[in-house]
Amino acid sequence: MRILLTGAAGFVGSHLAERLLREGHQVLGVDNFCTGQRQNLEYLTPFAGFSFFEADAERPLEVAGAFDWVMHFASPASPPRYLKMPLETMRVNAEGTRHLLELALARKAAFFLASTSEVYGDPLVHPQPETYWGNVNPIGPRSVYDEAKRYAETLTLAYRRTYGLPVRIIRIFNTYGPRMDPEDGRVVTNFIAQALRGEPLTVYGDGSQTRSFQYVDDLVEGIVRLMAVDYPEPVNLGNPEEYTMLELARLVQELAGTSLPIAHEPLPQDDPKQRRPDIRLARELLGWEPKVPVREGLLRTIAYFKEKGTIGRLP
Ligand code: NAD
Ligand code: UDP
Repeated sequence: MRILLTGAAGFVGSHLAERLLREGHQVLGVDNFCTGQRQNLEYLTPFAGFSFFEADAERPLEVAGAFDWVMHFASPASPPRYLKMPLETMRVNAEGTRHLLELALARKAAFFLASTSEVYGDPLVHPQPETYWGNVNPIGPRSVYDEAKRYAETLTLAYRRTYGLPVRIIRIFNTYGPRMDPEDGRVVTNFIAQALRGEPLTVYGDGSQTRSFQYVDDLVEGIVRLMAVDYPEPVNLGNPEEYTMLELARLVQELAGTSLPIAHEPLPQDDPKQRRPDIRLARELLGWEPKVPVREGLLRTIAYFKEKGTIGRLP
């Protein structure tokens, strides 16, 4: 198949592109490097089926030829990053999604949207099934991401209903692994970078808020399985293994072999208090469930950052 993938230089995009290339598909990667890393393309350029186009996915893409899939993964994803780029984040998820839906329609391709567990906002239902409508503050700082992704889902399903366009939508829960940007400000990268630098780990608030962490290979497996199934509505992909941020901090310290005191910092506005995926739909529809336990995935991620030497040496 020939696949257009936006966000190919990002963390998830580069793993997904590599998997698709290994399966023998052709991938045209698109990225503007606003949060991605050029070095992530080094995993892709050895494949003959890979080509790359540096462009802003907010605007219509001037790309030639037929595609089987248009997959939209471009968007700032870490809260500190999307808070610094509020309008860019809204545009790539709103206008960018519309242009890519139009492209899919024109080239008779199927469309795949990377949405997020953030559509559930600060959830009042726990764990979160796809049928939960969410609890999003529409004017809070996080809304530039949450509401833009919600709009992208709405638009995608409107194209499906209006034109019969084949679509897939995934709601990705906190995903981590090698190739993340150590400076992106997300909790896993912050904790690992701080532990490897011998600095105190920064826990926001009292650390009682929870998240559930999925290793990137599990996510990619779920994506590939969903491509093979005709199901247009959103599907949660995440690992239900749930941790408080204090528990996660202690686990990272244990695995990295450090034991400095925790530094508490203010909790960001509208930070969700709890998050855990209900993955019954993915289990039934795709025969999928996460395989990599958090402890194992964190060890692999720590090993990657040590090997890359991008964070500094262990104390
Ligand atoms: P990332 O920041 O590593 O990757 C995003 C990529 O998109 C980057 O390479 C960036 O340069 C590119 N990009 C952003 N805006 C662009 C634009 N206008 N034009 C072209 N390229 C642009 O983040 P990620 O974690 O790999 O996230 C990938 C996708 O998955 C995003 O859509 C994100 O919202 C979604 N997602 C990720 C997670 C997670 O935990 N990693 C959770 C939920 C949703
Ligand atoms: N967090 C933290 N310390 C950090 C970075 C984040 O305690 O150095 C917390 C953050 O407040 C949130 C959770 O970790 O409760 C996950 O944050 P992240 O930015 O990774 O993603 P989110 O799930 O909020 O989008």
